Amino acid sequence: MDNSLIDQIRSANDIVDLVQSYIPLKHVGTNWRGICPFHNDTRPSFYVSQPKQIYKCFACGKAGNVFTFVQDYEKLSFIEAVKKLAQRVGIQVPERERTSVASTKRQQLIQVYKSAAEFFSQMLFEHGENALDYLKKRSFDPQTAKDLSLGYALPSQKALLNHLMKEGYGVSLLKESGLFGEYSGALQDLYRDRLIFPIHNNTGDVIAFGGRIMEPKENVGKYINSPGTELYTKGKELYGLYKTKYNISKMDYSLVCEGYFDFLRLYESGFSNAVASLGTALTEDQVYLLNRFSKNAVMLYDGDAAGIKAASGADWPASAKVCR
Ligand SMILES: [Zn+2]
Repeated sequence: MDNSLIDQIRSANDIVDLVQSYIPLKHVGTNWRGICPFHNDTRPSFYVSQPKQIYKCFACGKAGNVFTFVQDYEKLSFIEAVKKLAQRVGIQVPERERTSVASTKRQQLIQVYKSAAEFFSQMLFEHGENALDYLKKRSFDPQTAKDLSLGYALPSQKALLNHLMKEGYGVSLLKESGLFGEYSGALQDLYRDRLIFPIHNNTGDVIAFGGRIMEPKENVGKYINSPGTELYTKGKELYGLYKTKYNISKMDYSLVCEGYFDFLRLYESGFSNAVASLGTALTEDQVYLLNRFSKNAVMLYDGDAAGIKAASGADWPASAKVCR
């Protein structure tokens, strides 16, 4: 990316406007002031200068421009931050030819998953009485379902398929999405009559789903999880991280649990720094991902043998500190 483009993106994003989209600021003299998002600020120590287009915290010393703010807040690389800010103001960032094809497919799949997630979540509150009852029986608040964008897959073979076709997605893209099975040449919804957990990447895009049945059925697995796609590799993501990464970073530790419901329980009880590994073995990829936000983790795994082995951290990289 050339420097003139980076300058153009910088000057199109006003720093006060940008910072205010993350934290509230008040006008004080010639500056703007707020509670610092990078340390446990008790007084407003965080100053933003509009004329200079920079910020500085007079308590923890964090300082920089629009790019470093987005990098630090969202835990992104410089290039990711530049792209995010370009998108924010509608500036096109040219990609190299080879990556541009790939990223188009990726972007298309992200759109498919976004539409599917919206459909599932709409269905939960319109037709998902049994799913909401199921959550209620397990003492979960419907608000938690809303906060975490849970959804419901209708007991139908084509509800999602028809919806996405109506939205204009082509069959070949839907085939690649992993959301459908193929039965004698026809696509069918993979998730039917299930409570849906969208899985987000750490920048907040939905990239996979987990679907749970609510009543045990013979020969039917409790969970269906998305197959690997261009967006999703099992064992690379952490459920809930997109919601809790900021608190993990601020509190400088995370709570690592096993499953969706463990995460929901923690979240609903006010533990805003949890993630779920979705399966007992925390992978090396997941440890590295978590380390971007904090090196300290408290393992809240089940007390069974598999859980204890997974929590022992024997296979973790030396940089990860583990409390048990
Ligand atoms: Zn600070």
